[in-house]
Amino acid sequence: MLKGKTALVTGSTSGIGLGIAKALARQGANIVLNGFGDVAGPQAEVASLGVRVGYHAADMSKPDEIESMMAHAAQQFGRVDVLVNNAGIQHVSRIESFPVERWDAIIAINLSSAFHATRLALPAMLAAGWGRIINVASIHGLVGSAEKSAYVAAKHGVVGLTKVTALENATTGITCNAICPGWVLTPLVQKQVDAKAAALGVSNDEAVKLLLQEKEPSMQFTTPEEIGELAVFFCSPAGNNVRGVAWNMDGGWTAQ
Ligand code: NAD
Repeated sequence: MLKGKTALVTGSTSGIGLGIAKALARQGANIVLNGFGDVAGPQAEVASLGVRVGYHAADMSKPDEIESMMAHAAQQFGRVDVLVNNAGIQHVSRIESFPVERWDAIIAINLSSAFHATRLALPAMLAAGWGRIINVASIHGLVGSAEKSAYVAAKHGVVGLTKVTALENATTGITCNAICPGWVLTPLVQKQVDAKAAALGVSNDEAVKLLLQEKEPSMQFTTPEEIGELAVFFCSPAGNNVRGVAWNMDGGWTAQ
């Protein structure tokens, strides 16, 4: 379905981003990876699906590095047809003790980076008459949780940006939608499981159970593979007129 197209997925060396990159690669899209940590492993995983794989190490908190990444992708692959704004970080603390530097980093990486990548991707998509912009928001783009002020503010911002991007391009072949997962067991969430286990003096399994019990009626994590398949749907012809939605994959979190 995506043969000959190129997808750039930010924060795709791990977790949800890597799951989305692999799902799009299975549909034939060439992939540009981005993110920190081990790069060779994710690159090999995606390449094994028979597509071309590129990588750019842009720090998504830095607009000039995002510009270099978008230019690099255009130079290597011709155009970015599918942009997945996924890179994100978390910090958990009450507002009065929230480190200012963490607030700034979360707003920059989780929200402003999506604006920068989107503004840089749109001209080529408009020229081609087709494009898909998928923003990995969160259930925290729709509801709040205590001690996550920066994350919740950024993710609500991402849902707002999604709607405006969709509206500004509503008469074109470019759609923009957000995915709003509940808990997904990635390194980002494992840190929160570890913190709970340490704070309560319980095992990893018990901490996982408590974490799910608090918010997610299904008592199960959403997987990066499931999220990847929703991204594939947004890229499919059936998604042509799906514009500006924030689609929950949250095990019933927000149905309560
Ligand atoms: P993760 O920690 O597994 O992956 C985050 C990715 O972002 C990694 O590839 C990391 O290298 C990259 N990254 C971090 N800072 C970066 C920076 N400054 N520049 C470039 N890349 C950077 O986390 P994840 O759970 O897969 O999270 C991915 C996205 O999904 C985030 O936006 C997160 O908010 C969102 N999300 C996660 C969950 C969850 O439960 N895990 C739920 C809802 C939404």
